[in-house]
Amino acid sequence: PVQNGLNLRSPICCIMGHVDAGKTKLLDCIRGTRVQEGEAGGITQQIGATYFPAENIRERTKELKANAKLNVPGLLVIDTPGHKSFTNLRSRGSSLCDIAVLVVDIMHGLEPQTIESLNFLKKGNTNFVIALNKVDRLYGWKTCRNAPIGKAIGQQSKDVMMEFNTRLTQIITQFKEQGLNTELYYKNKEMGDTYNIVPTSAISGEGIPDLLLLLVQWAPKTMIKRLTCSEKLQCTVLEVKVVEGHGTTIDVVLVNGMLHEGDRIVVCGMQGPVVTSIRALLTPHPMRELRVKGTYLHHKEIKVVQGIKIAAQGLQHAIAGTSLYVVGPNDDIEYIKESAMDDVNSVISRIDKSDEGVYVQASTLGSLEALLEFLNTRAVDVPVSDNLEEERKREAVEEAVFPCVLKIIPKYVFNTKDPIVLGVDVVEGIAKIGTPICVPGQKFVEIGRISSIIN
Ligand code: GDP
Ligand code: MG
Repeated sequence: PVQNGLNLRSPICCIMGHVDAGKTKLLDCIRGTRVQEGEAGGITQQIGATYFPAENIRERTKELKANAKLNVPGLLVIDTPGHKSFTNLRSRGSSLCDIAVLVVDIMHGLEPQTIESLNFLKKGNTNFVIALNKVDRLYGWKTCRNAPIGKAIGQQSKDVMMEFNTRLTQIITQFKEQGLNTELYYKNKEMGDTYNIVPTSAISGEGIPDLLLLLVQWAPKTMIKRLTCSEKLQCTVLEVKVVEGHGTTIDVVLVNGMLHEGDRIVVCGMQGPVVTSIRALLTPHPMRELRVKGTYLHHKEIKVVQGIKIAAQGLQHAIAGTSLYVVGPNDDIEYIKESAMDDVNSVISRIDKSDEGVYVQASTLGSLEALLEFLNTRAVDVPVSDNLEEERKREAVEEAVFPCVLKIIPKYVFNTKDPIVLGVDVVEGIAKIGTPICVPGQKFVEIGRISSIIN
């Protein structure tokens, strides 16, 4: 899509912030409004992501700015907010996310995971916008459903504005303590050096038009080069999943380039590079048919930014969070195999290794990185070694079972010492008594077994 002479792709956006700041709700709110009113407006829920076409965003922001000129075809919002192994995702070295929304609860200000997210964004040099969420909780707030924030603020009483300004000033100071200048976006004269704050409510929708417009209009201007479409394939593995009828599949985000059925691909695997061919390129059915469970649309080829499921043989040891490569007719396969292992090798090379020590396996690059870094900290200091015969390494991969993936509900972590009681959602697989578990904490990793299950 060539617009205004620029050939830009859709930016990829992720939502970050402290637990309970409203990440999920904000995503629901961005995604949901029109869908509930029966006007999906072309929004499609893709694998691991939601795609918003420019027309839809123009419609939702028209009260704020009529006929907004947008230079990008749309916006792809990644659906797995705040997930540790997700936030580490890279696409060829740089963060997969072009832009992030950092959600801060206006009633709480900066919290530990806000700062953690901030450090991650700084490290990856990722541009971001701050959503100062839950403004509707200010005492006496008058609801202005889905209104631009300027209009909503115009409706508030003096008292509400006083509380708003006090809290805002405190939060701007907290950001300054983290070395960042921030300002309400409509007062921001130095966009770029000073980060934008957009007050929002994920419940009643105030400020959402402003947030959307910043993401698709202002943000792309700051990253023309990054968003310029290229032919070169850029594709990141989000998740590795078993799907009935398709075997082990990988969910990927295609950032640039094109994929075809039958393409020979290389992905990073636990036992080394996996070379295979795309058996099927799948996307979910459009919104309305989402309820038709387990059925996917098959494609001969796919381009443009989107989330895709790939079925192919031999994907069971693929590592999420790494890049996917296609082997072209003139490509040197050995070179591609090496490139495919770059992400994992660079994580491993940063760690001090010993002749003797533990050999570490993980199903995502993010958890591998987190686990290795943890073992390497001075307080823990467990020696790590990859000094293992190839044969033993293969056995280790076979033995390393990832029987289920549990999502811990943070509100329900009871520190009853021994045993620790966790509230979990079973995301995948079956949790049984005796299942070994590894729980990454803020300062520690708990390794143990499930001793009982309370329903
Ligand atoms: P996450 O942990 O960051 O994903 O937070 P959630 O989206 O799950 O929200 C946590 C809680 O805050 C839920 O009970 C939400 O209903 C509530 N919440 C989220 N956003 C808002 C908001 O803008 N206003 C109010 N009043 N509540 C909110
Ligand atoms: Mg959430």
